[in-house]
Amino acid sequence: MSFHLDYLLDLPGVKVETCTQIEGKIYFKLSALASEIVCPHCNNYTEELHQNRPILVRDLSVFGRFVYLQVPRRQFYCPNCQRYITEKLEFIDKKRRHTQRYEQNIYARVQQSSISQIGREEELSYDEVKGIFTQVNFSQKKNCWESVKRVSIDEISMRKGKGSFVTVVSDIEGGNLIEMIDSHRQQDIVEVLMRQPLKVREQVEEVSVDMWGGFPKVIKQVFPNAQLVIDRFHVMKAVNKDLNKLRRGIGITDRGSKYLLLSNRINLEHAQIEKLEIILQKSECLRIAYEMKEEFREIYETNMTVTIAQTEFKDWLNYAQIFFQESASTIVNHFEGICNYFLNRTTSGVMEGINNRIKLIMRQGYGFSNFDNFRDRVLACFSN
Ligand SMILES: [Zn+2]
Repeated sequence: MSFHLDYLLDLPGVKVETCTQIEGKIYFKLSALASEIVCPHCNNYTEELHQNRPILVRDLSVFGRFVYLQVPRRQFYCPNCQRYITEKLEFIDKKRRHTQRYEQNIYARVQQSSISQIGREEELSYDEVKGIFTQVNFSQKKNCWESVKRVSIDEISMRKGKGSFVTVVSDIEGGNLIEMIDSHRQQDIVEVLMRQPLKVREQVEEVSVDMWGGFPKVIKQVFPNAQLVIDRFHVMKAVNKDLNKLRRGIGITDRGSKYLLLSNRINLEHAQIEKLEIILQKSECLRIAYEMKEEFREIYETNMTVTIAQTEFKDWLNYAQIFFQESASTIVNHFEGICNYFLNRTTSGVMEGINNRIKLIMRQGYGFSNFDNFRDRVLACFSN
């Protein structure tokens, strides 16, 4: 409708379609900017919109008038895992009927006044104000570092091909983003993480990272009691990359062949396994490499001690050099961290979903002129 209204409203991922006043109240009808969402089950993008059932949400008052937003509530279909997913809007907590900033505002005012007073001012029932207060209390607790034991550090590219990276720090168990750093330089990461009190850093038991060289030093310094674990997801990705390279080298371009080869066999349906078999019949090399990839994955799937895992991976590496040259040398270089996975078998698979969510927020048109504002906003999006 108007760029100015979007600017004033200042909510991520939506734009104003219409604005009307009814009995002194202001109603904004909003539409979603993104045509796709990230599937929380498989972390792929999907743009297959199934249905849209808008809801009415209370927002902060303007010019002394109450404000209501008609917010799209879209359900998508994920063709990859064949599930229906309801879109999560970054500015409303799940199942809430107020924007986060409205709830924050009520929370702050209740602390200065009382539930019944704020209820009168906002024309809300006692239970509604109390519900808001409990909700904010709950989400604030979840967002802090206090009880974080397993941390994942990852980096993502802010702008494709521009080489500007942000470091993303997450609480693996809570599946939550806890820090974002405007750099992937070692000293910058250390500086930001050292702001957490020693007590908090000491309780971190495990730090999961990718195979970037600088991490071991950072982790020793910041989290003195933590074991370094190379994230299983990144190792598997390296192995899959080699397998895909082989597929392309052989010239197999069947539709879906990449997906079928790289997916875990246990996740494939009967019809997909049949299709995969047709592809594998085309090349004996590809079949051997495929089986090796599955073998590698099975090591990860199995419950074993670190020592046994070392033996298993070494056995695998003995045969891997031909088809998995690049990933094999990476694995050798990070052997200890890779085997540490078997200490607790923590996977930071949630990271992919978190990263995709951040990228989606970036794509929805935030300026990067002020990183601190952007960081606050993204962290706020994850605070529930
Ligand atoms: Zn999915």
